[in-house]
Parts: sequence; C-alpha cells; structure tokens
Amino acid sequence: MDEHVSASPSNFIRNIIKEDLDAGKNDSMVITRFPPEPNGYLHIGHAKSICLNFGLAAEFRGRCHLRFDDTNPAKEDVEYTESIKQDVRWLGFDWGEHLYYASDYFEKIYQYAVDLIKAGKAYVCSLTAGEIRLNRGTLTEPGKDSPYRNRTVEENLELFGRMRAGEFEEGAHVLRAKIDMASGNINMRDPVMYRISKTAHHRTGETWRIYPLYDFAHCVSDSMEGITHSICTLEFEDHRPLYDWFLDALGAPCHPQQIEFARLNMTYTVMSKRKLLKLVEEGHVSGWDDPRMPTISGLRRRGYTPSSIRDFCDRIGVAKRNSMVDVAMLEYGIREELNKTAMRVMAVLRPLKVVIENYPDDRTEELDAVNNPEDQAMGTRKVPFSKVIYIEKEDFMEVPHKQFFRLAPGREVRLRYAYFITCSGVVKDTETGEVTEVRCTYDPLTRGGDAPDGRKVKSTIHWVSARHAIDAEVRLYDHLFTGSNPSDEKECPDFRGCLNPRSLEVLNSCKAEPGIRGLPEGKGFQFERQGYFCHDLCDSTKDGPVFNRIVSLKDTYAKVLKKGTK
Ligand code: ATP
Ligand code: MG
Repeated sequence: MDEHVSASPSNFIRNIIKEDLDAGKNDSMVITRFPPEPNGYLHIGHAKSICLNFGLAAEFRGRCHLRFDDTNPAKEDVEYTESIKQDVRWLGFDWGEHLYYASDYFEKIYQYAVDLIKAGKAYVCSLTAGEIRLNRGTLTEPGKDSPYRNRTVEENLELFGRMRAGEFEEGAHVLRAKIDMASGNINMRDPVMYRISKTAHHRTGETWRIYPLYDFAHCVSDSMEGITHSICTLEFEDHRPLYDWFLDALGAPCHPQQIEFARLNMTYTVMSKRKLLKLVEEGHVSGWDDPRMPTISGLRRRGYTPSSIRDFCDRIGVAKRNSMVDVAMLEYGIREELNKTAMRVMAVLRPLKVVIENYPDDRTEELDAVNNPEDQAMGTRKVPFSKVIYIEKEDFMEVPHKQFFRLAPGREVRLRYAYFITCSGVVKDTETGEVTEVRCTYDPLTRGGDAPDGRKVKSTIHWVSARHAIDAEVRLYDHLFTGSNPSDEKECPDFRGCLNPRSLEVLNSCKAEPGIRGLPEGKGFQFERQGYFCHDLCDSTKDGPVFNRIVSLKDTYAKVLKKGTK
C-alpha cells in the first residue's frame, strides 16, 4: 500500500506538532489516532480527520493508530468495523500493526475507575438519569450535589463491584467523577463515567454489564497508547478540561495534548451518522454505498478516486471555525483529475435512430478516435461506423429555434471522428407525431471530420453505430437534498422533507461504443459531452453494464461546439 508522505498543507495543528518536535517534546515522536465509533459507515467528514491524522503522522515519521471507540454496544456492529477498515485502506492509509479497540481496554479502564474511587475522586450515584439532569444546573446556575456524593470509598468500591457483576438493573446506579457541581463548565459537574447496560457487546459478549462513557474511555485509551496529539473536532473543546482532569487525577505517565479543529460540513448533504442511518433504514437510498451518499463507500461506488478525496481534504484545510464547504469543490477535483487521466468514449444516453441513406448497407468502417485530447500518449482507438447509427435525441430538432445549431432538416453537422451528414427527412410515429427516425445523407469526402473544400459546420455531435452498440443502463445523479443545508432546522425542519425527488435518473436504453468492453472496471472514463462515468460494480452484469455518472462536464465541450471545430 502506498502511504502518503507528501508534506501536509500548513495549518495550525501541523505548526503545533512542528514546534513540539523542534522542542524535543514527547521524545520527538508524533503518535496520532483515528478513533471511529463503529456505529455507521465513514463519510467524507471522517476522510478529513483520517487525512489529517494519518497525513501528519506520515509526514513526521510517526504513526497513526486506528482505534475503534466501541464503548456503546447498543449501536455498534462488526459490519461497521469491517467497512471502516476497508475505507481507511482504500483512502490509502495504513495503520500497520496498530489496530486497537477500546473494548480491549475494558479491564484496564475499569481498574482506572477503581483507582479514582480509591483516591476519593469518583463515586457511585443512585439518582435516576432524570434527577441527574435536573441537578446539573444551567449555564447561569450551579448544579446541586448528589445526595450520594459522600459515600465512603468502601461503599463505592463495593457498589461498583456489584454493578460490574450485573447485580443491578440498568439505570439503578452510575459511577461519577467527583469534580465540582458549581463549575462554570457543565462537563465538569460530576460527569458520569460508567453506566449499567445489559446489552451484549459485539466483541466482549456478555462479559461486561457496565460500560465506560466516551469522555472517560477516550482519554485513558489515548494515554495507554502513548498518543502525543489527540486531534478531535470542535465540539470537544469544552470537554478538554475533563480530558485533562481525568489524566491528572490518575497521574497518567502519558498525557496527550487534545487539539480541536472544525468538522467538515458540505452543501446539499448531511453528515450525521444518525441521519445517514435513517436514510438507509427508511429506504430513501439503496444502502450506505448508494452513490448519492456522502459516505466513502458511496463516493467509491460513484467513481471518486482516493486521490481526489485526499486532494479535496488538503484543499479545504484545517481551521478553528466551523464552516460549510461547497460540494462543487469535491466535484471540481474529480473532474480535473479525470480530465487528465480518463479515456474518452462515445455513448448515447437517449438514443434517436439515424439512417444514412447513401451509405452502403453492409459496410463497416473502423474510424480513428482520440482517447484523450489532454494526453497524446493515450493514443487512439478504432470506432465502428455503419449505415444506422444513434445520436442523442436532444441533438435533433425538427423545428430548430434560433440558438439551436445541431441537426435539423436540411442542416449539415459533423459526426465526431466520422463524416459530415445532412438531414434529408424524418419518420414519425403516426399516432404521437414523435420523430422516431432521422434520415440523412453523408459526404464521403469528409471522412475523419474535415471537408476538403473547407466548408464549416456549426456543430459536432457524438454517435454510436447501431449494429455494434452495447446496451447499457446509465444512472445520472443529482444532489441528494434540494436545500443547500439540510441540517439547518429552519431550512429543513425534518431533513427528509428536503430530499431531492430527482436525485437519481435511470436511463435504461443507452447505447455505448463497443470499446467500452475493454475498459478497466474500477476506472472512470468520459462519455463525450455527457460527463465522467464508471462501471457500477454492484449492479453491472456481463451482458448488461450499468454506468454511474460521477460528475457532468463543465462546459468545455460546449465552448468547442460553439466554435464549430472538432
Ligand atoms: P456522528 O456525530 O455523526 O456520530 P462522530 O463524530 O461521532 O459522528 P466518530 O465515529 O466518533 O463519529 O468519528 C471519528 C472521528 O472522525 C472523530 O475524531 C471525529 O472528530 C471525526 N469526524 C467525524 N465527523 C467529522 C467531520 N464532519 N469532519 C471532520 N472530522 C470528523
Ligand atoms: Mg463520536
């Protein structure tokens, strides 16, 4: 696997690490971690965190751990663990032997809790969750001490041991840190460290009847692994004093530095796993890997490359303030990349039959087509041409309006890489009046697409030989949501109400040039004038390929068309 060791773009976290290294802090080591909770698939926001954590570790020759923060058995699943590993690898990062699970630390975390009880810094509280909430106070009012706050160490140890042994019902007791119910920071008002849960865990089964909460489990896990910089998103800024309190109270030999950065938000999509799960469970999308999803697996299936996602993460940067990134930026990146690397082929998405009346019935010609005008080295290929071809319905108008320069009765256009053709008539459906076939003549002297007499045409259109065409299904995607910020409750009181009913358009009578068969499956290509596409690896079969549109083209081709050149 290729690891990405290029210099990370400069940002405040990189600067902190550099200063620490220059000062010889942490024995001049950098150890970061990516700590997903296995309760859903990774999304593009996680990619930002992955690129940051693995990227910095690689740049400074440290290492990055993959640690599953699996402390909430009710929502977690092995399916998620496996998909997360696959996605991190696919993005191009490698944790080597440093794969960890918070659940592997349960015994140690328990012992740390016991240490805090012994030090008089934690107690078993028997208030209900509702009472704890009521006693917590508000931003302007201090909280109230729990009546159980002054239980003796012995009593606490005994009760905590019995909680572990499964002697109590869920909710009967919790273990709380004994900090300060009047703290200005609500996170410091005797936060809960452990709760009783009888749910079986996907890795530890029924061994544990109590589970540590994130704030406690996370900092001690970081410390046990010798993490130097614990990079997390901004919502944990107010938890940092608690992170530090736990490690100080335990006298932990390793005290990582927590650094917060702004999470990625992107237009026209949602990034919360809870919401993404709803989309999957309620069938609004076909699964976590639906090509419209902002998940890594969705982007992969859609045809995004790991490099385009890494570049995107570099480009958006790392900041201290939350903001919204335009999804067009992600699209721009893959478009730029594929423009340089993608094979061009022709495919007709909404076919209209064209019969070239003066072309011999049985003849097939093999015409030369350029594979990528951006890269001569990609060479040319042969495309079969014959008497009956398909063109796009929208490239023909029986009664053209002023701005329409493509095929129309009496008008001549260029068939890309082939000939000039002139429309001589149409065949219509007698009932609907719809044009079902266009009749044309061709000029044999224009082979390859140039007229020896120098005459010009106003447009060039793509085509596919009917006899040689491959039938395909094409899926065109639009944003999953109509509102640019479906997470904004003012804009979308229920995010599902903002789903875009036209986010998927399926075209199932498409015709592609036969060369499409030889294209490598996992790579994107361009259908001329239609955008960048890839094979849908889940739904394609040997006889019927399915193509996903990754992104449409900008309007470069439209400009070419306007000029009336090839
Ligand atoms: P959710 O709140 O939707 O459940 P999460 O942040 O809890 O998401 P985790 O699995 O805990 O999801 O995330 C793992 C890591 O990825 C965390 O360090 C988190 O800070 C980071 N992360 C999650 N979402 C984003 C985002 N949108 N942008 C940047 N980093 C993110
Ligand atoms: Mg989380």
